[in-house]
Amino acid sequence: TNKPTPSRQPLTVELQALDSAHFLHPFTDHQGLAAKGARIITRADGVHVWDSEGHQILDAMSGLWCVNAGYGRRELAEAAYRQMLELPYYNSFFQTTTEPAVRLAARLSELAPPVGGRRFSHVFFSSSGSESNDTNVRLVRRYWDLMGQPRRKVIISRINAYHGSTMAGASLGGMSGMHAQGDLPLPDITHIQQPYWYGLSQPGESRDDFGLRAARWLEDKILEVGPERVGAFIAEPVQGAGGVIIPPDSYWPEVQRIVDQYGILLIADEVICGFGRLGHWFGYEKFGIRPDLVTFAKGVTSGYQPLGGTLINERIAQVMVEKGGEFTHGYTYSGHPVACAVALANLDILEREDLPGRVRNDTGPYLAQRFGELAEHPLVGIAESCGFVAGLALVQDKASRKPFAPELGVGMLCRNHCFNNGLVMRAVGDRMIVAPPLIMDREQIDQMIALIRLALDRTL
Ligand code: PLP
Repeated sequence: TNKPTPSRQPLTVELQALDSAHFLHPFTDHQGLAAKGARIITRADGVHVWDSEGHQILDAMSGLWCVNAGYGRRELAEAAYRQMLELPYYNSFFQTTTEPAVRLAARLSELAPPVGGRRFSHVFFSSSGSESNDTNVRLVRRYWDLMGQPRRKVIISRINAYHGSTMAGASLGGMSGMHAQGDLPLPDITHIQQPYWYGLSQPGESRDDFGLRAARWLEDKILEVGPERVGAFIAEPVQGAGGVIIPPDSYWPEVQRIVDQYGILLIADEVICGFGRLGHWFGYEKFGIRPDLVTFAKGVTSGYQPLGGTLINERIAQVMVEKGGEFTHGYTYSGHPVACAVALANLDILEREDLPGRVRNDTGPYLAQRFGELAEHPLVGIAESCGFVAGLALVQDKASRKPFAPELGVGMLCRNHCFNNGLVMRAVGDRMIVAPPLIMDREQIDQMIALIRLALDRTL
């Protein structure tokens, strides 16, 4: 299926020329792209996509971590079609609402397990993870204003976190490249180091000892800023775009202790971790944490429609509803009926096929075993997974964990070998990561591992 084509198809030639002339891509170096032309993806089914040259590609990234239910789901297309004919758009501003938005809010509220005996009673909708995190900044500020503590504006986040690409999203995120270009972060957003045991622990330090030390960086930062000024801590249960950083078991309980002690809101950004990715409906269940706000997007519709939002714990919702008057915030597409109808149909699939349970009990453990075997490869320092996210570190020297010099671009080289062999895998610096569709079966996991191994061998 991946035979080289002697010359490019006319469609490829035409689209690449138009692409290069007119399309400013997100997160892309256009000089580098112009040299070979963008790969044009034309169709998809199951865990595979095809390009305009007819190559089949195993999509181990679920698009951008979003196609949880896999490609080619007719019932999602039909849900969108039916809703477009019935009511393609109406808003939920100014005392109106629509059935799909109401039903989805109620269903998400039902689906999200309560924390500390308190439900996620309300949902605020947007169209993306970035917008949802902007909403969270507004919610945090509004909540503390209403609580009579308006100085609690500071939000603490982590280095290498990804929380989106809007001004607030990129500020909350801890990507130095993004901060450098936008004169970011915005005021009142500050960062602590990430809980990356393999990269940051001291020689001989156990995972759990490191996890406690990493959590206490949060306490240090709270004390440095002044507890009376800190409004919230935001974090992904497992950092995704920062390289799939799986925290030690000791990390989250200690973070929870700290946010409780200082009365700080906890925002779990579950844009990647939610909807089965970690083998649970939400990542906070996996780690036993008690967030006040939960950001979601991506997997809620399996990427078939743009939709995001925030699950709001009743502790916050009650104050907003009973004391807040009008919340002067919202998007034209908050609660878009077509996106919500598709989300409802997608939740039906995830539930009917028990994709979170399958990842938790069957394919997730199998992925852990097979992916873990990659640690034997001479280039790989560590290879680990959590549910259906997995990451490995490429190292120059396994014993000392010495990384390759960044200018060598070893990760990119390995990624290109994957891509040329029909596998989408991402490189984040020297970490190679996957997040397959939750429908991927054992045989497809074996195929994926074989392709990763081949790319590693070629990178040697
Ligand atoms: N938060 C997390 C954890 C993400 O991974 C992403 C996107 O990858 C976002 C937020 C931003 O979502 P969006 O790209 O839909 O704006």
